[in-house]
Order: sequence, then C-alpha cells, then structure tokens
Amino acid sequence: MSGYDYHRPLSLAEVFELRRVSPEAELIAGGTDMMVRVKNHVSSPADLISLRNIENLSGIEPGDVTRIGALTTISNLIEHAELAEKFPVLVEAASQLGSPQIRNVATLGGNLCNCSPCADTATPLLVHEASLRLQSPDQTREVPLQEFFVGPGQTCAAPEEILTDILLPSPKPNARTVFMKKGRVKMDLAIASLSVLLEMDNDTCTKARLAAGSVAPVALRLFEVEQFLEGKQLNRSLAALAGKQAAKIISPISDIRASQEYRRQIIEVFVKRSIEKLIGIKPS
Ligand SMILES: Cc1cc2nc3c(=O)[nH]c(=O)nc-3n(C[C@H](O)[C@H](O)[C@H](O)COP(=O)(O)OP(=O)(O)OC[C@H]3O[C@@H](n4cnc5c(N)ncnc54)[C@H](O)[C@@H]3O)c2cc1C
Repeated sequence: MSGYDYHRPLSLAEVFELRRVSPEAELIAGGTDMMVRVKNHVSSPADLISLRNIENLSGIEPGDVTRIGALTTISNLIEHAELAEKFPVLVEAASQLGSPQIRNVATLGGNLCNCSPCADTATPLLVHEASLRLQSPDQTREVPLQEFFVGPGQTCAAPEEILTDILLPSPKPNARTVFMKKGRVKMDLAIASLSVLLEMDNDTCTKARLAAGSVAPVALRLFEVEQFLEGKQLNRSLAALAGKQAAKIISPISDIRASQEYRRQIIEVFVKRSIEKLIGIKPS
C-alpha cells in the first residue's frame, strides 16, 4: 500500500481548507470502498481526509422531508424504527448490503458517492425520488438523485463538493414498495436488483416508480415501464408485459458475476413478481 497522510478534520471548513492546499486529496467515510481501491492501487492519494469526526454529518431526522446525514452508517439505517416504518424498501435494501461488519462502518453517503451501478441503496432512494444536498466552500445546492449518477464511479458533484444530506419526501399513505436483489451467494454484490413503488386507487395504478441496479452504467429509473403502468388496472398479464418491457430497455453487461442475458431474465422476473406482490396476487 502506498503511504498517505490521514487527516481528521472536525468541521467542513477544515475539509475545504485541506482540499484547497491539497486538491488531489481524497475523502473517506467508512472506507469500505476507498480502502479496497487504495489497497489495489486503483487510488494512490497522498492525502486522505476522513469525514467521520464532523458533527451533523450523521443522524436521521424524520419529518415531512426526512433528512439522513451522509455519514449515517448502513447499520444505523436498519436500526431506525421510524425509517423502517416510512421507507421499508430502503431498510430492506440496506439490510442486504454486505455483512454486519461492513454495514457497521459503511455509510449511506459513501454508497451513493462511490456511484457503482450495483449500490444497494440507490434504487430504493430513486423510487422515493430522493434528492441530495451538496456543499462547497461557496454554496449549498440540492440535486435529484437521478441527476447525481453520471456513469460508473462518476457523479455530477463538482470536485470541491461534499455530500452532506440525503432528503426523502414522505410517501403517500397508499404507497407500497418492494426490493428484490439477486447475488451469486449471500452477502454478495447484486447481479441485478430492483425497487418498485406503486400508489394504487383500488385496482388502478396512480403512480409507478421502478429502478433497477447492476443492469446499466448507473442505477436506472425505468421510465417507460412507469408510464406503461400508470392509469391502468394492474393484473397478472400486465405485470408480465411490464417485465418484458423492462428487460428490453436495460443495457446490462456480461461480467464475472453474470451474463447480460441472465441479467435481463432476472429483471423481467423481478418486475413481474414485484407487481404481483404489490397488488396482492401470488407471484407466479
Ligand atoms: C466485503 C464488501 C462487501 C460489500 N458488499 C456490498 C453490497 O452488498 N452492496 C453494496 O451496495 N455495496 C457493497 N460494498 C461496497 C461498500 O461497502 C458500500 O458502497 C459502502 O456503502 C461505501 O460506504 P463507505 O462509507 O465505506 O464509503 P468510502 O469507501 O469511505 O467512500 C466511497 C467513495 O465515496 C466518496 N465519499 C464518501 N462519502 C462522501 C461524502 N459525504 N461526500 C463526497 N464524497 C464522499 C469517497 O471519496 C469515495 O470515493 C461492499 C464492500 C465490501 C468491502
């Protein structure tokens, strides 16, 4: 491993000053992605700036818009009873991320900023239409999560910006959600994953949000499928058609984990089964 200076600032102002002096410095939160990169010589920063001692960057504040600090650990998400009640799809996804040891140090902000297409918390946050608060020395701005992901490992954040908060609008009382993930083994990265949110008025879908992971360069909202479902009475055959449509619009790759054909099949089945589950019919 290459040598580096490890900084532990106590405020964002200190972080900005450290980065002004050392523009190539890298931020580190839980380190579960960053230290793998350093160890494998994918990153060789001369300076690492830890965000862990900065006040107000972690914690969960429920409200009309729930605020989750970027440094909140995945375990803290899972343990928060009110979050589990309001955003069960996020907590379900979080509980399938890595192992307990990883979840105890990995942060929500790190999972998003790492910008992997298989980040488990990305799809539930996309279906809840989360936005992110980014802070630079001069300004604070909010961006919708779906604009944040630009490509694998690439976000729309400027080099000097730090993710401080994840903001989640409250779902309507009639919203129902589901998360599905397929790994090769337990505690594995996703071969494919899916989050679905449906709002229903009796049998009719009034709002549909679907997002898929590991099947495109970034976690992906399935806009065409959403439009197809909205305004329709949902049933088994419509669920099957939505699955076929989803399989067509994703752009998976073949890699060490799975072939692109297999990923398409998983998403087709996940979309179909998710809809069936959410409308209360036995998944076929
Ligand atoms: C064994 C193992 C299993 C794993 N399994 C899974 C899994 O099943 N699912 C999954 O999704 N992930 C998995 N991961 C990946 C990883 O644990 C998660 O992505 C984790 O949430 C990253 O958070 P972190 O705090 O450790 O990020 P770090 O490694 O500290 O940082 C990741 C990146 O984000 C940047 N960053 C972090 N915080 C901020 C911020 N606030 N503002 C700006 N930039 C920031 C860092 O500079 C770095 O580039 C696994 C990792 C390991 C080692």
